[in-house]
Amino acid sequence: METCSLCQEQAKKTHRGKPHDDLIKVDESRIFTGNRAQGYEEQDYKCLICNSKFTQSTGKNDLAWTLWQG
Ligand SMILES: [Zn+2]
Repeated sequence: METCSLCQEQAKKTHRGKPHDDLIKVDESRIFTGNRAQGYEEQDYKCLICNSKFTQSTGKNDLAWTLWQG
């Protein structure tokens, strides 16, 4: 399935970027406490238009929005 234009834009967003309107949360967020002072959080999303899946991460070394190609 083609990735919709909203998702293509989503993949370029930064850590401050908000999910687009048709991106819904899947499951609860996962909290990682890691070995450093700062933990980080991951949240999965799914697009209602094209079914693309994203993981949003607040980890500084991770991409903010990772698009999982079906
Ligand atoms: Zn989409």
